[in-house]
Amino acid sequence: MARTAVRSSRKRSSLLFLVLLAGAQGQTVIPTLPPLSASVAAKPIGDSIFPALGQAGLDVLNYDLDLTVDRPGTSELRGTVVLTVTSTQPLPVLSLDFLGPQVMEVRWNGLPAPYRHDQVVGKLTIEPPQPLLPGMRAEVTVRFAGQVGVRPDPYLPINVGWQAVPAVGERVGANFTLSEPDGTRTFLPVNDHPSDPATFTTRITVPAGYTAAASGVQLSEVAAPNGGRTFTFEQVQPIPTYTLAIHVNRFERVDSAAVPVGKGGADVIRRDYFPVGIPAGTRDAYVSTGEILKVLADWFGPYPFSAYGSAIVTPRVPALETATLSTMPVTSSNVRVVVHEAAHQWFGNRVTLADWSGVWLNEGFATYAELLWAQAQGETGDDMVRGWYARAGRNQTRPLVATTESQLFDTTSYIRGALALQAVRVTVDDAAFKAYLRGWVSEFQNRPVTTADLLTYTRTTLGARAEAALRLWAESPELPPLPEK
Ligand SMILES: [Zn+2]
Repeated sequence: MARTAVRSSRKRSSLLFLVLLAGAQGQTVIPTLPPLSASVAAKPIGDSIFPALGQAGLDVLNYDLDLTVDRPGTSELRGTVVLTVTSTQPLPVLSLDFLGPQVMEVRWNGLPAPYRHDQVVGKLTIEPPQPLLPGMRAEVTVRFAGQVGVRPDPYLPINVGWQAVPAVGERVGANFTLSEPDGTRTFLPVNDHPSDPATFTTRITVPAGYTAAASGVQLSEVAAPNGGRTFTFEQVQPIPTYTLAIHVNRFERVDSAAVPVGKGGADVIRRDYFPVGIPAGTRDAYVSTGEILKVLADWFGPYPFSAYGSAIVTPRVPALETATLSTMPVTSSNVRVVVHEAAHQWFGNRVTLADWSGVWLNEGFATYAELLWAQAQGETGDDMVRGWYARAGRNQTRPLVATTESQLFDTTSYIRGALALQAVRVTVDDAAFKAYLRGWVSEFQNRPVTTADLLTYTRTTLGARAEAALRLWAESPELPPLPEK
């Protein structure tokens, strides 16, 4: 997420907030259903910030989505998702996070299965014919239709998750996802926690004249009933649920030359989506995207996915690093934010969080990438580091591990997080620091991370002095001194 946009969003008038409240009151409330026969309660993952999210022991391997947006710009959504699931412990019931549309049908390996959907708590509990045991695989199908769920952001005048952008004047209605930290559950039944990344196949059917875009590589675009189109995307590398991008809009899709920054120099597909009618100058920020990927891949190692680009949105919301397709408001369309969201493809989307308290491991690294980009443009970066330090000094500080939801996207996560990496860098030379960054990605891309992991990794790769520097920045209640060589 981009911090500047978050701050500017706070200044929005209360009018939007009232509109959102009115929308929330319009939601259908489904009466509580009788309990399932299984008496064993599902245990959540146990996140320290969001203790109710996810199910302990559940491992979703793939989500196969078939979504239809009949009326873009509204909160109406219907679809079917097939989850391929396994487990790391015996699960007598499956408990998915789902605030979203009304459930019409649930099947377990093709057969109807009992379920209970509590749209207030946001859990869809499903009873399999027999417990899901470690090593077993099952296909769980959920069909749903209606209004998406509502998950208000406690600090911004927006809802997290499925966004509806009503038609205004010449501009048509649009939809997109903005789900960090837990908004995907507003429209999809998911194990909504970054410690359980999964692959996605996403089919979206839209009315005539509309384009759909999603995380991954587009496989096809075919005719649908009533003149509509169905777009299919495949995301073959696992990604956290909150990073799933879906967009429905009147877009111009702009393809650019592929960039050879993938594993072994493999080409990365480049495409951006610009809504018809946005200011022409908006596109300028995206001209450097290929060059940005090259600079970042040099520091972080191969780009971890098959495609990259941005989808631009018109509401004034925070920019978000949705996987392979960053969601970029017109108002955040500048190179600094493009660099920041691109860096998250490595930090957050490929190297994922074990617990939301470690969100600085996403934001600190992405903010630090802004310095690496400036230096690649010939700047010393000294002004940027001093600017960060001054800003950190003007704000309340805390140890890097967050303890409350309100801390997740504060100055400490971004700026103190970036300064912590600078504190590590000044203890070694740049070649060692580059190897350190690349090693963090390659070693932890399939293992969700914590701050303790980074401390241990720092000691084993760079030694005790680097670890002590990081530990001071991670743990001191005060702001440590400006890191200098
Ligand atoms: Zn960010």
